[in-house]
Amino acid sequence: MRKNKFASHVAKVTGFSALMHRIQLRRRPLRVITYHSILSSESLYHQLCMLKDLRFFPLAVEDFLTTQWHRNQEGIPLLVTFDDGTEDHLRHGVPALEKAGMKGIFFIIADRVGRKGYMQAHHLRELAAAGHLVGSHSFTHPRFSAINRDEMKKELVDSRKLLEDMTGKPVETFAFPYGRLGDFNFAAVEEVFSAGYKFCFSAVRGWNQNPGAGSFLFRDSLQPEWSKNETAFFMSGAAQFVYHGMVKVRDLSMSVMPLGFEYAFYPRWRGVARLLIALTGLVDLPARVRFQRALKELKKNRVEVLVDIGTGLGLFPFYVVRRRFAKKAMGIEINPEAVVQAREVARRLENIRVHFEEKDIEKDALGYGFADCVVCLETLQYMQDPFEALNRMVALLTDGGLLLLRFHEKDVRDRDLFRRNTVSGEEVAEHLKTQGMTIYTFQRGPGRVMRSLFQMFDASLKFRPLLLLYPLMVAFSRFLPYGNAGEYVFIKARKKS
Ligand SMILES: [Zn+2]
Repeated sequence: MRKNKFASHVAKVTGFSALMHRIQLRRRPLRVITYHSILSSESLYHQLCMLKDLRFFPLAVEDFLTTQWHRNQEGIPLLVTFDDGTEDHLRHGVPALEKAGMKGIFFIIADRVGRKGYMQAHHLRELAAAGHLVGSHSFTHPRFSAINRDEMKKELVDSRKLLEDMTGKPVETFAFPYGRLGDFNFAAVEEVFSAGYKFCFSAVRGWNQNPGAGSFLFRDSLQPEWSKNETAFFMSGAAQFVYHGMVKVRDLSMSVMPLGFEYAFYPRWRGVARLLIALTGLVDLPARVRFQRALKELKKNRVEVLVDIGTGLGLFPFYVVRRRFAKKAMGIEINPEAVVQAREVARRLENIRVHFEEKDIEKDALGYGFADCVVCLETLQYMQDPFEALNRMVALLTDGGLLLLRFHEKDVRDRDLFRRNTVSGEEVAEHLKTQGMTIYTFQRGPGRVMRSLFQMFDASLKFRPLLLLYPLMVAFSRFLPYGNAGEYVFIKARKKS
């Protein structure tokens, strides 16, 4: 790749590679490299020698498993891994490793063992017997950010079992398919460890500073054909420094993105419509105001896990994670189209701290007591049985957890197009009390303006030309009087601990 060549050249000339490498030699992180296709054993051997010249030493597999990174060795511990379990790893990879006196970890796609172009079961047994490690690279190689937890479990457990049967050895290492940020998420990492793996490898570049068992590990993808400059650029940490800098800039741009803008991502809109929505989002003050109260509340509480019910395209979870109001956020949404889109945005923005699931809060199993904050904005009013939905929201909360609700009341003269306002604020508050919640804020707020906007937007989903009126509505919304009808109720409640 020309770009890499150029960047590595600049890093060399400016001394940046050398500087980063000096820091690395002092800090001695564990470095893990990964290969995909190997065209010749010579070029791989050549690169492994280059790495030795750069004072990387091959970490013995048993020292890795027992996390003895630096035992009596000078330099930086290095682990070599191969992804996918293709035949060329056997043909070219193993001889090069042997010649260099090294062992590797081979991450195998369990379902493909024995297929054309892939290793056979007896190859895996031989690798394991020769002192290499066989790890799992999932069962079918899915993108983990695009599947649900049950599917993840299956991928992790089935592949492990099959590979253990084939090799007769425990399989304790797992590498994510694709493996870049955005290809997996926190839910996936949790599932890896709960499936019994001890080490979870990504394909995110970086240094592993003092990792232990139960660690999530960074890996650098290398190509055997790279020049010494390029190899040094990536292995010194200079490339990673640049890369993380770029991600930071993107984070920043995301956190100043106006709310309301998210509608522009909706797949059913194209071209001009998307542009129109995006521009409208820029001036959609009510949409921004709508989140402000919830955000203010989150700021005061240190939220570890937040669940957003009816997340739509998931901008809210993004927002709270980006702005560090919550460490992890999960969006639940009934509309599969929106979930696909939200996951795609998460993948593009390379965010592993948000996770989206297609679920019906009224029906599906959700897990209990794992969130310390549940947010439900404008979704309660859609529920068939709002009380049952409330029970389920409460069940998601840990003791002392926070519930933020916002919805339209029922006693609105119903000209709504798609909404079923079936409960009043008082009814909801009373019900929450019976569920062991303490209500500490009960407010009514102006609702007519926003309600009109939502109606307009929802109606335009069915009848597109109406969308043309949306910017007008937004522009003039500030001049519309706040009526009593169509008020919002905002409830903050805390689960008793
Ligand atoms: Zn792969």
